[in-house]
Order: sequence, then C-alpha cells, then structure tokens
Amino acid sequence: MPSINFYSGSGLDRAEHLRADAEWLIAQLANPTTRLLPLWRTKNMIEARTAMREAPRPVWLPSLKAAHLVELAEEMIFLGLRDGEVRIALDLSAVDEPAAHPDLAPLGEFVDLREIGPLLPRDEGSILAYARGLVHWHKTHQFCGRCGHLTKSTNSGHVRRCSNEDCGASHFPRSDPAVIMLVHDGDRCLLGRQPFWPPGMHSVLAGFVEPGESLEEAVIREVYEEVKLKVDRVTYHSSQPWPFPSSIMLGFSARALTSEIEVDERELESARWYTREEMLNSPEDETFRLPRRDSIARRLVEDWLKGEA
Ligand SMILES: [Zn+2]
Repeated sequence: MPSINFYSGSGLDRAEHLRADAEWLIAQLANPTTRLLPLWRTKNMIEARTAMREAPRPVWLPSLKAAHLVELAEEMIFLGLRDGEVRIALDLSAVDEPAAHPDLAPLGEFVDLREIGPLLPRDEGSILAYARGLVHWHKTHQFCGRCGHLTKSTNSGHVRRCSNEDCGASHFPRSDPAVIMLVHDGDRCLLGRQPFWPPGMHSVLAGFVEPGESLEEAVIREVYEEVKLKVDRVTYHSSQPWPFPSSIMLGFSARALTSEIEVDERELESARWYTREEMLNSPEDETFRLPRRDSIARRLVEDWLKGEA
C-alpha cells in the first residue's frame, strides 16, 4: 500500500546491517556522494528564508566540504542509503547560536519541522522527521534507565549503551503508540478541541495506548474517558510517524452506539457532533478550522467526508 500520510515514505534504505561498523561510517565521510543533514536541538536546517516561503528545501551538505562541522557534532547518526548514497544526520546542538556561527549561518536557517512540514516534498519531510526523532531520543536518553550511569551512542546512532560495566544495558530508540480515532454515527462525526490548540482548530479524539491493552481497547477507553460515548466497529485506517517528539499515531474509525456527549474538561475544552455539510463548509478561520494538513487527523476527516472511513 502506498504511503498516504505525511512524515512517512522516506524512500530511504535504512541499511540496518551497516550500522554496527563504526569504521565504515567514518570512511563514508570521505565519499564524495555522502550527504550530511544538520540538526540543531529540535530544529532542522532549511535553505535560506527566500527559498522557504513556498518551497522550503532541507540543507544536505556534501561531507567532503563539512569536516569542520563534523567536529562540532554531538552525534552522527547514519540514516540510511538514498539511491545507494550515504545519508547522515549531524546533531549540532552544542553550538550556542547557529545564526551567529561563521560555518553555519551562511548555509541556511534552523526551523521547526512543524512550521514547514506540509510544504516539503513527502520524502524529505519524512527524512527530516526521522532525524528529528532520533536526535530527540539521544538527548533524552543520556542516562541509563536501569542503573543511572551515562549511556554512550553506538551502532551508528541507533543504540545507546550503558557505560557501567556491571550493567551494560542497551537502549533503543522508542516510539510511543497513540491511537487517534474518528468517531461517527453514520451521518455525523465527533470533533473536539483542546484549549492550547490554535484558535478555531477542531479535531478527532486521540490518546496514548496504556500497558496491557489492545489498540481497539485503547480507542474504546479514550473515547469514553473524553466524551462518555460508547463505540464499536473499531476499524484500522492507517498510521503516521509523529516524532514531535516521539509518537506513532495509529488511526482508526469507530461507530458511536450512543449520542449524548459529556466532555471531560480535564482533556477537552469542547466537543460536539458535526455534519458532513458543516465540515465541508468549514470557514477555516478562528471560529472553526479542520486539523492541520500534515496530520493523520486531517486524513481521517477527509476520508470520512469522502465516505471512505
Ligand atoms: Zn546501566
């Protein structure tokens, strides 16, 4: 099945079998086709602003011209092969102010992927999300969760190993599963709103999967917790990597068995039923707008409007 959601479909060969060979990765820096993807804290590097407005492009540096930047990097993460050529993420978070750094400032600008995601080519958006997720994971897994000692990056940036010889635990990049579900009763669909969302934005319900429950159970539980509706016919739709910072969104539709809503105000500001007509005529303004274009939530809504979910 073709990839339908933003931030998936990188087209990269992740080439897992090459990760264990640290010397191979270092040698690739001398390969003229190797490209480096700079990141700074939670941001990705995009070519200068002028190019950004309508068609932003990530900065891919030839490694042969970037030895000085490699020296600045906190982490070097092998992303994979693109058409057989090596792609490496470079975490430059140690630089205090990239906009003032003589080696970085001329190359472009660091921006939050969420600001420009929908404008990027799909494959590039997916690679940037992948790199962002890994850099965040390194940052938040500096210490061993088992014994508290420092961890060290290994396997070309895909494992962190505890430095305590008596422990030696390996820690792997993680994605936190969250269910996101379009609840409908045939003619109407339920949308809610969280208080910190942009003005007017309404979306489908979502929540994290808890230990010891299936995805279907998580859907049923979350809907009941948030709006006190009972649902059945929980049907899988598609999934979306959402490394903001570390989720994988698992999309479902579910049929409501009851119609009276009681909003849990700890989770939602409001929620109500919307007809197809209301949604198709969304003013997309501060009174009402659908979820952002790069989200699986938007996809769930659009497919339901087309009668496909
Ligand atoms: Zn440990």
